[in-house]
Amino acid sequence: MSMMVVMKFGGTSVQDAKAIDRVCMIVRTRLDSGQRPVVVLSAIAKGTDALIEAGALASEGKISEAREKIAKLRERHLQIARELVKDEKSFGDLRARMGDYFNDLEDLLKGVSLLSELSTKIQAKIVSYGELLATLIASYAMRERGMSAALLDARDFIITDNNYLKGEPQLEEIIARTKVSVGKVVEAGMVPVIQGFISRSKDGMPSVLGRGGSDYTASLVGMALDAKEIEIWTDVDGMLTADPRKVQGTKIISEISFEEAAELAYFGAKVLHPLTIRPAVEKSIPVRIKNSQAPEVEGTLILNRTGDHDAGGGARAVKSIACKEKVIVINIFSMRMLNSYGFLKKIFDVFDKHRTSVDLITTSEVNVSVTLDNGEYLEEIKTELSAFAKVSVENDKALVCLVGNNLKNTQGITGKIFGVLSDYKITMISQGASLINVSFVLDQEHLKEALQKLHNTFFKN
Ligand code: ASP
Ligand code: MG
Repeated sequence: MSMMVVMKFGGTSVQDAKAIDRVCMIVRTRLDSGQRPVVVLSAIAKGTDALIEAGALASEGKISEAREKIAKLRERHLQIARELVKDEKSFGDLRARMGDYFNDLEDLLKGVSLLSELSTKIQAKIVSYGELLATLIASYAMRERGMSAALLDARDFIITDNNYLKGEPQLEEIIARTKVSVGKVVEAGMVPVIQGFISRSKDGMPSVLGRGGSDYTASLVGMALDAKEIEIWTDVDGMLTADPRKVQGTKIISEISFEEAAELAYFGAKVLHPLTIRPAVEKSIPVRIKNSQAPEVEGTLILNRTGDHDAGGGARAVKSIACKEKVIVINIFSMRMLNSYGFLKKIFDVFDKHRTSVDLITTSEVNVSVTLDNGEYLEEIKTELSAFAKVSVENDKALVCLVGNNLKNTQGITGKIFGVLSDYKITMISQGASLINVSFVLDQEHLKEALQKLHNTFFKN
């Protein structure tokens, strides 16, 4: 449907009455401009955490502490509802329905505490109340503001496997059911209001899509309905050209490809988890990140593929500069590596055994260098590697990664990168097989300076 947009609002966008009121205004504006919004909401900020904690407390027999948590949550929701819904009759209805949810929740927690057992099934059921409450309140608020909001139950159409806490979406079933359940509401000219995150397992139990799963819901609904765009509304203006805590003059990235976003996510650009938007991106539905506190800002558009034409010359070849701090480098030397097979396997068996993941790898005939982001088993790893190779460890290193689809087509880009950094000792230079990133290692103490110099080079005006 050409005018349909899925608008997902995260926890901070619904954290209090003011925030939900803003959400209502944002949706209203869309309706006025002739679009057909489908609204997906997370639980209020920290709501899911509180529910998880209450479940854990109950299972440890601390039922009064669990009850206290729930009482606070009830208070918070009631206050939000009271501020948003002024009509006494509506508020009375809403309060009664919220009361039912909280009573069910308390019964569940009592059961957990009596049995001293918290199964994943029950856990999924407990956390689902966060989204149920947020959407219930928002639907009343929207109606009071003149919109015909239809509160739906995501468990009728977001179907997963039987992994209750991290359900794997069953795409075919989701598409078929969403088209009916949500599609008909949109066609009737109403605004569907849908819980993010919550789902139902194939065996009919409540499940959830894993933490942060509301983006996943939005993407699945958008895919099923062939939406024009999916909007992820959060509390930042979009993805940035670098970490603003380290670099001055950062800018919002206006357009980025799914692959680029995935590279950046690995470096902790936590605006969203790219895997959760894959269903949408695979269908070439654009995903836009927007700030609900500044709706006029364009945000960042994530596309299946960004047009290569828009990045002329070296300056725009880099989309973003990311980094990882406190990286450990292990250099492994062995003459026996020469003309022998199985050497790398031997090395990686050691990392494997200690469950330590390796980020960057560079090799020569007689040397392999790897970076680790955690040194928990460093001593053990060093000892075991030393049995068959000479090993040196460098601490206080940092990993820098420049990401951009056009890195692969731009002549002289590496010259430009390393020209700027000629004052520093750079090691482990590597270009990923995807050719959309260039990574290297340098001393942690030079990280900030180096990032600023790179940023000045690639993003001035
Ligand atoms: N409320 C859920 C969570 O906190 C889902 C989400 O926020 O996307 O993980
Ligand atoms: Mg969230």
